[in-house]
Amino acid sequence: MSAIDQEVASFYDRVLERNAGEPEFHQAVAEVLDSLKIVLEKDPHYADYGLIERLCEPERQIIFRVPWIDDDNNVRVNRGFRVQFNSALGPYKGGLRFHPSVNLGIIKFLGFEQIFKNSLTGLPIGGGKGGSDFDPKGKSDAEIMRFCQSFMTELWRHIGEYRDVPAGDIGVGGREIGFLFGQYRRLVDQHESGVLTGKGLTWGGSLVRKEATGYGAVYFTDEMMRTNGESIDGARVIVSGSGNVATYAIKKAQALGATVVGFSDSSGWVETPNGVDTELLIDIKENRRGRVSDYVAEATGATYHTDGSIWDLEADVALPCATQNELNGEHAQRLVDNGVKYVAEGANMPSTHEATEVFRANKVSFGPGKAANAGGVATSALEMQQNASRDSWSFEYTDDRLQRIMSNIFKTAARTAEQYDRAGDYVVGANIAGFKKVADAMLAQGVI
Ligand code: NDP
Repeated sequence: MSAIDQEVASFYDRVLERNAGEPEFHQAVAEVLDSLKIVLEKDPHYADYGLIERLCEPERQIIFRVPWIDDDNNVRVNRGFRVQFNSALGPYKGGLRFHPSVNLGIIKFLGFEQIFKNSLTGLPIGGGKGGSDFDPKGKSDAEIMRFCQSFMTELWRHIGEYRDVPAGDIGVGGREIGFLFGQYRRLVDQHESGVLTGKGLTWGGSLVRKEATGYGAVYFTDEMMRTNGESIDGARVIVSGSGNVATYAIKKAQALGATVVGFSDSSGWVETPNGVDTELLIDIKENRRGRVSDYVAEATGATYHTDGSIWDLEADVALPCATQNELNGEHAQRLVDNGVKYVAEGANMPSTHEATEVFRANKVSFGPGKAANAGGVATSALEMQQNASRDSWSFEYTDDRLQRIMSNIFKTAARTAEQYDRAGDYVVGANIAGFKKVADAMLAQGVI
C-alpha cells in the first residue's frame, strides 16, 4: 500500500467510526476518496489543514420533530432533517426528500454528493440536503399541506436567500413547494422568493425548472455519445422510475429521436417497444397522481410486469432515474449482455459500486449522477438569478443555458479525466473537478 493509499484509508476509517450505521453515506464518501488518490499524489497540499476531514463533516446538521394531524384527527409525528454540508462556494443548495426510507445517513449521502455536483455547475452554490421520513403516498392534499406547514414551522429559521435554499426531490414537487413557501412567507412576513426553488411560475418560479433534471440528463448523454461519433437519435433507451426526473428524461429522449423501451415505479415496470406516449404519462403522473399500471391500461402496445426487472430489456442506453442503489452488479451485467453501451444517472447514486465496476470493466460510457443530473440544481440556480434580478426568462433562453451548462459539465469531467490519465472515466473526472473548486475555496477561506 502506497503512502497515499494509507492516508486515504485512514480518512475513510475515521468517516466509518464517526458515522456508524450510515451505509449510503459511506458509499458516497468511498467513491469520492477513491478518485482523490490521484489528486493527492500530484498535489499533496490538498490534504493540508484537515481539508479532507473537514469536507466529510457537515457544517451543520439539524434534526427536528414534525407533528401534524391526519384527516381522522390522529396526531402523527415524523422526523425532519436539514444537513448543511458545505457553503464554501455559496449558500447551501439541495432538495428536500419526503419518503419513508429517509434517515440521517441518506440525507448526508445526498448532501455530500450535492457539494461536488453544485461545484460542477460552475454556479455559486454550496451543498445541502434535507427531508423527512413522511410518506406522501395515499395522503390527502389537506394532510400534505398540514405536514408541509409543520415542517416549515421549524425549518424557516435555518434557511434564507443567502443562507440555504431548498428545492424538491423524491416526494416533493410543485404542490409541496407551494405549501412550504406559503408557510415560510407567513412566518417571515415577507415575499422572499429566493428562499426556495421549484416555485410556481406566477410567484417566482422559472420556466424549465420542472423539466431540467430529466432534460439535462439527456443532454449529458447525447454529449457523451457524440464523443464516440454516435447520438441519442435512433437509440433505444431504458428509463427507470416515472417521477419528475424520469418523465422529462423520457420526453426529451424521444424528442431527440430515441425510442424509450421501458419505465417503472416501485410496484412494477412497463415495456414499451414502440416508445412512450409522453403526454398520457405526464397526465397520469402529474394531473391524476396515478401509477405506471394506469398507463398500461390506457396506452396501446405497452405491457406491465411485476417479475424480473426493467434492466432485463435490450437497449443502447440506460438512464436510472428512480432512487439510490436500484441497479446492482447483476443488473449491470445483464445490461451489458443486452447491448447497453451508455449509462447516465438521472437519480442520485442509483448504481451500486459493483455495478459501476461492471460498467468500467466492459467499457460502458458512464455518467455519474453528480454530473449527469446536475441540470436540476443548475436551473434552480438560474431561478435564484431571476429572483434576485426580479426578472423571468423565456423557455428557450433558459433551456439554452441549461444545454450549455450540461455541455460544460461533460467537457469539464472529460478534460479532467484526461489530465489525470484516466480518459473516458467520467466518475474520476467529475469527482476531481468538483472537488478541486471546493477545496481551493476552503483553503483560501482558512480553517473554519
Ligand atoms: P419523484 O418522487 O418524482 O419520483 C421518484 C420515482 O422513483 C417514482 O417513480 C418512484 O416510484 C420511484 N422510486 C422512489 N423510491 C423508490 C424505491 N425505493 N424503489 C423503487 N422505486 C422508487 O422523484 P424525482 O424524480 O424528483 O427523483 C428521482 C431521483 O432523481 C432521486 O434519486 C433524486 O434524488 C434524483 N434527483 C432529482 C432531482 C430533481 O430535480 N427532482 C435533481 C437531481 C437528482 P413510486 O412512485 O412507486 O414511489
